[in-house]
Amino acid sequence: MDGFNRVDEILRDVLARSLAKANRDQVYRNISELKRGAVARGDQEMARRAWCFETTFAVQNLYIDAFSDLKNADYQAAWNKYAQIESLLSSLARHFRWDILSDPHKLGFMRQHTKHFQALFPYRLFTSPAILVLEKRCSICGAHVRLRKWCGHEPGELYNGELCSHEVLKVDILEVSFVTKPVWKGNIVFPVDPDTGETRDSYDYTQVKSVAEELWTPWDPWNIEWSTEVHAHSEFTGVSVQDFCPCGSMRAYGDCCRNKPSVEIRRGHIVLTGPPTRGGAKFHDIE
Ligand SMILES: [Zn+2]
Ligand SMILES: [Zn+2]
Repeated sequence: MDGFNRVDEILRDVLARSLAKANRDQVYRNISELKRGAVARGDQEMARRAWCFETTFAVQNLYIDAFSDLKNADYQAAWNKYAQIESLLSSLARHFRWDILSDPHKLGFMRQHTKHFQALFPYRLFTSPAILVLEKRCSICGAHVRLRKWCGHEPGELYNGELCSHEVLKVDILEVSFVTKPVWKGNIVFPVDPDTGETRDSYDYTQVKSVAEELWTPWDPWNIEWSTEVHAHSEFTGVSVQDFCPCGSMRAYGDCCRNKPSVEIRRGHIVLTGPPTRGGAKFHDIE
């Protein structure tokens, strides 16, 4: 039990943790060792705990790294990490009853603030492929899974502290559609430059940028307040009717606000809901 308590302490102490990569690898090694020990003893409950620790640690690291990405203006990288966090937290919620009130590992905090960050991103449109799976494999036993031939492992369940998933090996893509609420948020649609034919990132990151500048560490608690700014059409003379509407709807300007008296843009403002963490040391000073 000792080793588990030590790892638990590291996970609880996320605010003070050294962010160096070498230290992280050591923690992952300690957790795998605990898992191997549990599996050797046939202790599924402890193997499950080790998986929960491993996943919690991964979420914390992604959350810290996403904040670094924001500070470095690498917005797409941060966005992808928030999508990963969302998906890991939903796996974790299935196998781990965490204490919502005391939130010792900051899981509730990260879930809430990941949503806040995502709401500030300008991405509104995603691709979603409709696929026909031709071949998939069980991540636990490696068996090829077919409709009538099933190995008995349930995707989403834990076996010896490993999460079962069906790895897709071969697919037919039937069609690709554009959606606003994708299953996977990583498939962002980038507009194509009509001159070069290449995609370009012309998204407006003002909101997420200003929030990232105001926060000192990933652990400052905050909320968003929304307001609506009204802009005259004369401010957008450079925007053609075929371009994306400045309101951020991802519809063409001509089909959207051009027909309205003005352009209304929703802006999020950060409201700090607690004292800054670490007595005012900025995130980059901690690194
Ligand atoms: Zn299997
Ligand atoms: Zn509009």
